[in-house]
Amino acid sequence: MTRVVLVGPPGAGKGTQATALSQKLGVPHISTGDLFRAHIANNTELGQQVKAILDSGGLVSDDVTNQMVRERLAEEDARDGFLLDGFPRNVGQADVLGSILAESDAKIDAVIEFRVEEDVVVERLLARGRADDNEDVIRHRQRLYRSETAPLLDYYADVLITVDAVGEVEEITSRVLDSLRART
Ligand code: AMP
Repeated sequence: MTRVVLVGPPGAGKGTQATALSQKLGVPHISTGDLFRAHIANNTELGQQVKAILDSGGLVSDDVTNQMVRERLAEEDARDGFLLDGFPRNVGQADVLGSILAESDAKIDAVIEFRVEEDVVVERLLARGRADDNEDVIRHRQRLYRSETAPLLDYYADVLITVDAVGEVEEITSRVLDSLRART
């Protein structure tokens, strides 16, 4: 159970959980949002290309995103497993991910859905105060989650594990680990 995708609305705590889970499972945490933010911080060509999109809460094009993920997954540390956070974000990206993995006879083992009410995540995000955390941008990102990303829950129905994402951080980590173990 090492190739895992984390899905949940912005603010569901995926990043925090991914950090803890990556340590426990011994696989790298690959966050497309973090990768884009690192490009922006380093002022790379890709960073300059995507900055305005991240600031507005929109989605970076599939081509650009898929290519970045393909390169990251080709790195040695991701060969036997990974935790993807923020990717795939739509069904097209999920198809591409499936083909990338199929090239090495691999597949996604589990998709963890972090379930939490929208009002709760909006509150959390307003408290976090990242550059793209003002209210309009937050609402835009929640809308995109519902329209673009939530269809992945059906797409991955066979491997889907839904976890209640409200509670203490450690408690939620244990819920995820317990449900992953129950599947193996
Ligand atoms: P996150 O850290 O996952 O909330 O992502 C922050 C921002 O990065 C998003 O609002 C998008 O602009 C961009 N982004 C991250 N992952 C993706 C993706 N898989 N596809 C397109 N854009 C993405």
